Amino acid sequence: MVGVTTTAVWDDLLVGDELAHLGREAAREARPAPLPDSLQPAVRDALAGRGIGELYAHQAEAYEAASRGGNVIVTTGTASGKTLAFNLPVLDALAADRHARALYLYPTKALAQDQARSLGELGVAGVRAAIYDGDTPTERRRQIRGWANLVLTNPDMLHIGVLPRHDLWGDFLHNLRFVVVDEAHVYRGVFGSHVANVLRRLRRLARIYGAEPQFLLASATIANAGELAHALTGEEATVVEDDAAPRAERTVALWNPPLLDEELGLRASALGEASRLLAGLTGRGLRTICFTKSRKSAELIHRFAVDRLDAATAARLAPYRAGYTPQQRREIERRLVEGDLLGVTSTDALELGIDIGDLDCAISVGFPGTVASLRQQWGRAGRRGHGLAILVASEDALDQYFMREPPALLERRVEAAILDHANPRVLDGHVAAAAFEAPVDEGDAETLGPEALERAPHVPELRHTPRGWVWAGTDAPAPRVPLRSTSPDAFLVVDASTGDVLGLAERERAFSTVHEGAVYLHLGRQYLVRELDLEARRALVEPFGGDWYTQAKKETETSIEEPLRGERRLGLELSFGRVSVTEHVVAYQKKAVADGATLDTVPLDLPPTTFDTEAVWFVPRPHQLEGLEAMPLLLSSLHAAEHSLIALLPLWAMCDRWDIGGLSTNLHLDTGAPTVFVYDGHAGGVGIAARGFEQFEGWVADTVRLLEGCPCERGCPSCVQSPKCGNLNEFLDKAGALTLLSRMSNSG
Ligand SMILES: [Zn+2]
Ligand SMILES: [Zn+2]
Repeated sequence: MVGVTTTAVWDDLLVGDELAHLGREAAREARPAPLPDSLQPAVRDALAGRGIGELYAHQAEAYEAASRGGNVIVTTGTASGKTLAFNLPVLDALAADRHARALYLYPTKALAQDQARSLGELGVAGVRAAIYDGDTPTERRRQIRGWANLVLTNPDMLHIGVLPRHDLWGDFLHNLRFVVVDEAHVYRGVFGSHVANVLRRLRRLARIYGAEPQFLLASATIANAGELAHALTGEEATVVEDDAAPRAERTVALWNPPLLDEELGLRASALGEASRLLAGLTGRGLRTICFTKSRKSAELIHRFAVDRLDAATAARLAPYRAGYTPQQRREIERRLVEGDLLGVTSTDALELGIDIGDLDCAISVGFPGTVASLRQQWGRAGRRGHGLAILVASEDALDQYFMREPPALLERRVEAAILDHANPRVLDGHVAAAAFEAPVDEGDAETLGPEALERAPHVPELRHTPRGWVWAGTDAPAPRVPLRSTSPDAFLVVDASTGDVLGLAERERAFSTVHEGAVYLHLGRQYLVRELDLEARRALVEPFGGDWYTQAKKETETSIEEPLRGERRLGLELSFGRVSVTEHVVAYQKKAVADGATLDTVPLDLPPTTFDTEAVWFVPRPHQLEGLEAMPLLLSSLHAAEHSLIALLPLWAMCDRWDIGGLSTNLHLDTGAPTVFVYDGHAGGVGIAARGFEQFEGWVADTVRLLEGCPCERGCPSCVQSPKCGNLNEFLDKAGALTLLSRMSNSG
């Protein structure tokens, strides 16, 4: 079938102005490799039992790299057999040596369960796998520690439950041969920066118990797999990226809802378009999954699609939610696999690898934030035969950029998973935790990193003794270090109707995201904040069904604390360094979901907050600002440039635009000139601004194309407007921003 384009049943659906791009990814033959001769008979037998008589070349490559004793990161495509690539060396080692132990790390409990199930099905003699997480009953824990030679857990449990109690794990650590880190790209940003320290603590303890485990990582396709492996573990890794799995032909469609108002840049609803496609595809008998960002959208698309179909077909559609019990999930999965269900709408809870069988079509409604996520969603389409993958664009700038520049989405590989384990706001807690686990001395610089030793004198409750830095506090420090925040004094977000803790809001951002009256989104569900208790650092929320969202109005100031790098780039002085950001949330607006109209402005009485972070900033040269010097045009042009730059940075650094802040001013006190700042929204910084500094030329060039291509006249949500602007999108000049950024780009 290679090279032959077939006509498909969906061809007549994919027509009209909405079709922004129609492409095809050719089928690919597998490149097999024989099972390694050195494989243990028990593993060979188990594979034979599952009908596996040979490998794909990349699996064999990973096995060989692991056999040489080094670390490995496998970063091949969705459904390419990454799991077997890391399982093989591990199972082989466990089968060969009854003392050997392996630890598997999964970001969620559900993924650990899936992996445990497939290991069980594989049934290699001598392999005793068990899950050890927060749900494991206390009486079972001891038994697992003694019995299992393959333990599946998550970073939180490792951080709080295993490492601080390493005396209970002595035998396990002494024999630890392999640490598997699956879905490694998930460990980025704040979470990744913490996990990188947890893994360093694990390496140190293993060494104390006499073991040097090998790390085997698997990641979605990203630009910097080797760099990510190094950042996470502190050690080099061999990158295995040459995907040898077969692939069926896939049609890729980019679908843009029609423009209703060109001047305002207003488009028809992505939900309506998605339901039309879902109904069209399921109506042709095609098994289709539709991914959305919120539960509400998933329900609406389901409802709209049902309205378009005859009763018999409509009955074969279902929504799928993260909140389902495992039994409900399995039931839906079973019905999908058997073909009883035709269409499922889901939030991206399904995205992380859980297997629901082979579908014909996948529709992503709104860019899910990273190319890696989109690829995972699309990877469900057409695993066996010709598949169809569609992205339905939202009005968001990045979505619209992709509609006009398909190669930016489909052909380039620029997205990098970044983290910074040395951020003191992250590191200090782990230095304390490490000292609690065993005294920290100079020799630990090899595993914990030299930065840990540098921070030790600054960590309260550590005391320097002849044995090294020791913990002098009372209780264990690890539980006080949340892995998803850079501030230990984060606000808890609590559902007042159930008492459940939904999550954490970092102190720096709490006032703009969970102030009283804010609409808060969690796992695709909406909540209304009833009360923000500054003393108790707690936001009480309740489920919310209203049709407005909120946007905080805030005043921001920055001051440059320490420039770290300065380079002549794009005709100007580009800087990277540490800045201090002060934000004062003064009011919020209620805005209609339907059209973004302002319903109300409510003043707030909150104190200002200040935090240190990292920023990239630039001072345009006079000739780059020629004709834009008059106020307020100058400020409006810089402000619009700042917004559009922020909109496109997530394409380079895997993050959310909510992870990035910005400030533009016609006169900055520290530079004495008009200046644009783009800063890391997390205290201390996690590498986002640094990535912007490194990739400045490509980043600015993308932003120029975004502004050039947007069909609106004077700026719209798809180019210069920002859903999180503290000035509520006042003073934005699209033409001025384009003039400035093109002049910069042309001087590169
Ligand atoms: Zn626009
Ligand atoms: Zn703004």
